Amino acid sequence: LRVNAAATERSYVMVKPDGVQRGLVGEIITRFERKGFQLVGLKMFQTPKSLAEEHYGELKEKPFYGKLVDYIVSGPVVCIALEGPGVVASARKLIGVTNPLNAEPGTIRGDFGIEVGRNVVHGSDSPENGLREIGLWFDQDEIVEWEQHMTPWLK
Ligand code: ADP
Ligand code: MG
Repeated sequence: LRVNAAATERSYVMVKPDGVQRGLVGEIITRFERKGFQLVGLKMFQTPKSLAEEHYGELKEKPFYGKLVDYIVSGPVVCIALEGPGVVASARKLIGVTNPLNAEPGTIRGDFGIEVGRNVVHGSDSPENGLREIGLWFDQDEIVEWEQHMTPWLK
């Protein structure tokens, strides 16, 4: 039984098709794992166009919306559900700002990209969207509730 399940935050992170093509899947998952966040969902997936459109629904009026949807369906993605305190904001920090040219070295986008239209990875922008997006990309039975057994720290 999970004592703090209700209090726990979740983020939807996704390796976009360029990240998969370039062999960056392991590198990206490693960064979130070693930071200390817990994997609760993980799969490879060929995105249907309707799902890409729904995921980016808030950007429908943007001039790049059509190209963005084409990009997301252009090849398989890796879907990642992460859990932990403050995971949404922290994952965005680890990912870096939207345009990889402006992203700090040490962030995923800062280390691995140069094009805003090929920025390697997605991360939810609020806890509400974290839950919404995990619900969009994962079936309920694909989310695994499990307890991480950590060595107790000094008290
Ligand atoms: P973020 O992914 O950092 O939250 P947004 O939610 O603003 O950024 O945009 C969603 C995605 O749309 C970006 O990650 C990027 O793939 C794409 N995008 C954003 N701005 C542009 C742009 N000016 N040209 C092409 N693609 C863009
Ligand atoms: Mg966004």
